[in-house]
Amino acid sequence: TKTQVAIDGPASAGKSTIAKIIAAQMGYIYVDTGAMYRAITLAAMQANLIQVGQTAVDETSISNLLANVQISFAPSEQGQLVFLNQVDVTEDIRQANVNSLVSVIAAIPAVRTELVERQRQLAATSSVIMDGRDIGTTVLPNAQVKIFLVASVAERGQRRFAENQAKGIDTDLTLDEIKESIARRDYLDSRREVSPLKQADDAVLVDTTGLSIDQVVAKITDLIKQ
Ligand code: C5P
Repeated sequence: TKTQVAIDGPASAGKSTIAKIIAAQMGYIYVDTGAMYRAITLAAMQANLIQVGQTAVDETSISNLLANVQISFAPSEQGQLVFLNQVDVTEDIRQANVNSLVSVIAAIPAVRTELVERQRQLAATSSVIMDGRDIGTTVLPNAQVKIFLVASVAERGQRRFAENQAKGIDTDLTLDEIKESIARRDYLDSRREVSPLKQADDAVLVDTTGLSIDQVVAKITDLIKQ
């Protein structure tokens, strides 16, 4: 029988890091739903439908774009790659400009309807671990294991700052700027009308502040094996 594991939580709580490790250990597929919202955001930027600073968009033109936005994932030595219409956008979707716009695009109901449908299709074939904001509440409401992963803003900011420096992404941003961008995204994601960031009633809260990656993986693996 197929197992579904849902991992939700605020930005930079370590969801994808943990989910990737568990997927590899358990032989599940890993679905990074944030990457899908990021890819649509990049497509909208490329089509000049939104630019940095914009807080509202023409929802009809974004909806019309969806049919021509193909998103796929592929494994590689450097980790999972993300493709937008066959083009590798793995790095582009992590840049500050996408971070600043993705919550606006993700709040559009037509975008969510379409991506939720695609996410359910990805989960239909195999055991899956999926991370995002609304997986336990909306995408996979019957998931056997639901985790709500949190950590303090200070710790999340520090982790993201260190990761950016290591990967050479937005190295000009200060720690404070990164903390602000994380807090702003959480604020927007928690306040949108359609499936906002929220802990599912039956999700287990895991606070990773002060915990190592190994400790968090062990905790969640225990919950899966229960
Ligand atoms: O997970 P990640 O931080 O990459 O997600 C980027 C953005 O995509 C989130 O800030 C949120 O606006 C949106 N998102 C969402 N629902 C999901 C996953 C991500 O709205 N399931």
